[in-house]
Amino acid sequence: MTEEEIIINKIAQDKLDLGKGVKWFDELVDDRKKEVIEKLTVFIQQSHPTKDSIESGLDLAPIKPTMTPVIIFRTKELKIALDKIKVLPKDEWNKAFVTMLSVFKVADTKRRETFCKGGCTHEWHNLDS
Ligand SMILES: [Zn+2]
Repeated sequence: MTEEEIIINKIAQDKLDLGKGVKWFDELVDDRKKEVIEKLTVFIQQSHPTKDSIESGLDLAPIKPTMTPVIIFRTKELKIALDKIKVLPKDEWNKAFVTMLSVFKVADTKRRETFCKGGCTHEWHNLDS
């Protein structure tokens, strides 16, 4: 797994503080930020969020509900929302990161507590620490 993947999953699993993740993201160069955003759209789809987990994730996101990525999630179907968020301009990237990470965290936690309960072979659910 790449550094990006490990950090995203550690945050989702409460092994790394969201604030630290935001700081890490902030310090990346643009190309890598773009990669992280694209990766998150894939992770969110793989975590199969329900409408409820998307809502809970948005409520949890440390961001104003009037921010663009939140509005996109609330008003569009998941697939369309992710396609739109992926191409947001640079000044929205930080907001896109925290919003998507919060949605992923809720959806992935639900999956770990149900589908993956009792052990699974997902590499990202079996991190060392
Ligand atoms: Zn799993």
